[in-house]
Amino acid sequence: MNNFDESDMVYCPYNKEHKMLRKKLQQHILKCRVIYKDTVELMVCPFNKTHLIPEPEFFQHTKACEDRKIIVDYQTNGSAELNEDTKHAKIECEENWDDDNDPVYDPQTYCSTANIVREPCGLFPSQRKAFIKEENRRHFGEDYKEEKRPPKAKNRVDTRFDPYECRSLYSRRQ
Ligand SMILES: [Zn+2]
Ligand SMILES: [Zn+2]
Repeated sequence: MNNFDESDMVYCPYNKEHKMLRKKLQQHILKCRVIYKDTVELMVCPFNKTHLIPEPEFFQHTKACEDRKIIVDYQTNGSAELNEDTKHAKIECEENWDDDNDPVYDPQTYCSTANIVREPCGLFPSQRKAFIKEENRRHFGEDYKEEKRPPKAKNRVDTRFDPYECRSLYSRRQ
């Protein structure tokens, strides 16, 4: 099992004798960072923070860095050839916030069709009346008439507790 693709092999930035698979590097660096922390000063590449470069090579790296190439290409050509590290699969999502075909949300339009109670705001009394009438028609149907309103005060007496009824109940229990 030694036939690894050479392009997957990387060198430890602390010690060129350490050669490993790219995916092992991060973990390896944590160990070497402890071992070499007093002897090797590593600098972080400005184009990719996973590039740790020994100080003497830093300047050379910033000129030759793969990720610098991507940025420079992007600035000059407007597009970039992405490497495997920077690619990711397309993320599928139910909602599409970029879709311009979606009708723009208009609260007034939405409220006029939704089954909710609207308040007549900023209207003159006559407009207010018409608005309430229209709203009632919307909620109770086209044949809505003013008379269909819930019973008002004049009916209240009928539903009151009848004191005579109370007395008869009392006497019945005796
Ligand atoms: Zn190492
Ligand atoms: Zn770099």
